[in-house]
Amino acid sequence: MKFGVEEKILWPAFLIGVLALFLSVPAVQAQGTQNLPPPPAPWRPKPTPTPKPEPEVLDVIKTTSNLVMVPVSVTDQTGQAVQGLKVADFRLLEEGKQQEIAYGEARGFGAPRVTYRMRDWLISRQRYWGTPIPIIYCPMDGVVPVPEEDLPVLLPEDSEFRPTGESPLKYDERFKNVPCPVSGGPAERETDTMDTFMDSSWYQYRYLSPHFGEGPFDPSKVDWVPVDQYTGGIEHATMHLLYFRFFTKAMRDLGLVTIDEPVTRLINQGIILGPDSQKMSKSRGNVVNPDDYVDNLGADVFRCYLMFIGPWEDGGPYRPEGIEGVTRWLHRVWNLTLDEPRFADAIDADATRDLQRRRHKTVRVVSEDMETFRFNTMLARLMEYTNELSRVKDSGRIDPAVWNDAVETLLLMTAPAAPHITEELWERTGRPYSIHTQTWPSFDPALAEDEQLTVVVQVNGKVRDRLTVPVDATREQVEAMAMASDKVAGQIDGAAVRNVVYVPGRLVNIVVT
Ligand SMILES: [Zn+2]
Repeated sequence: MKFGVEEKILWPAFLIGVLALFLSVPAVQAQGTQNLPPPPAPWRPKPTPTPKPEPEVLDVIKTTSNLVMVPVSVTDQTGQAVQGLKVADFRLLEEGKQQEIAYGEARGFGAPRVTYRMRDWLISRQRYWGTPIPIIYCPMDGVVPVPEEDLPVLLPEDSEFRPTGESPLKYDERFKNVPCPVSGGPAERETDTMDTFMDSSWYQYRYLSPHFGEGPFDPSKVDWVPVDQYTGGIEHATMHLLYFRFFTKAMRDLGLVTIDEPVTRLINQGIILGPDSQKMSKSRGNVVNPDDYVDNLGADVFRCYLMFIGPWEDGGPYRPEGIEGVTRWLHRVWNLTLDEPRFADAIDADATRDLQRRRHKTVRVVSEDMETFRFNTMLARLMEYTNELSRVKDSGRIDPAVWNDAVETLLLMTAPAAPHITEELWERTGRPYSIHTQTWPSFDPALAEDEQLTVVVQVNGKVRDRLTVPVDATREQVEAMAMASDKVAGQIDGAAVRNVVYVPGRLVNIVVT
């Protein structure tokens, strides 16, 4: 057997391989049989961190507000020594900035300049979903924009999604291969798409004229902006809100719009937490599935419950027991509307007037709550109003026209919160389709005010004062007002009060000795 060149190289490799096999076998056995902890990592000395060179102090400047500025010499990334200033107190940052600028200018190494920092926004993505980038690459003419008459570039609807990890547009030959707009020769379309923020940053302008074909939006419709209300979660603050404002400012500078801000009011909604007051997550197992409630109780009950859970801006924990009350309320609205009261022959004029007043008052407060997104108190007021209607209905002595009006108002005010049930009730009571195209109920401010009563105040049976009190004031409130009256205090003048006689809504008689 001859040992050639090949064997000479193979032999050492073979030996190393056998050695490795030999050494590894005991280790495998030890792990398999005794389950020992892994051997400790070999000890190595900890690397000593290179100390940052302390800036060399060149000078100390004291300013009018005792701000200490320390001119220093530091080494920059390229290893060059540069002069700078250190400010000790950041409360005085603005003044420090001015001092720094002056210092830099005087020594000729700096000048003031405003710079902008836009949050990084990835404009092109390697995926299908997004706005196509209207660019064509031609081997002859280079980068050519898609001519305006060919805009917008639409995404193909028959692209094949393959597990390549890449955009299907890259493999869509019909989308990709286009004639060059300049020479007509073969060219390729850009297959990256823009981030979806590219659409959502200005869609509010397109919504004004969605069928307009001559451009992004009809300039004659654009004076409808700004948008009155922006709602969303706080997580939009550094993304959509920023881009949406940036687009408006850029569009303003281009002369497309005349407004500075795209929206006039922002309200962030809170988050509905899990029953354990923690953010809902699959890993915590505290996710509430709305579908189960919608299937059992209906979408209206569930929506009203979410509105009722707490202030809209705060959110709050999901408490399933609270849904019962909302269910009962909507049942009451249903019965109240469909069961006609048995109207008595003799109408109670006071009760009728009270109901009218209650109706105007409820429209006022519900309208206010609606405009300020206080949906939880809005529903509480509608529930109170429903209770009042139930009470009045049992008496049966209300003017039928006033009763009808009161119930119609209840349906109209409840419609935004419970759209399905109210539409059904609207139809069953023979009203014209649809409840959602009716005007919002109006109120008379005078009637919406609390009704006032005049209460006579006597001291030992002699009239001393007259008080104007709300119709629903309690005995304690009226007595306290009577005692606080200057005219009454002058009569009592330190005498002991033996008794107070109260005739509700009419009279207070203070008996003194
Ligand atoms: Zn070309």
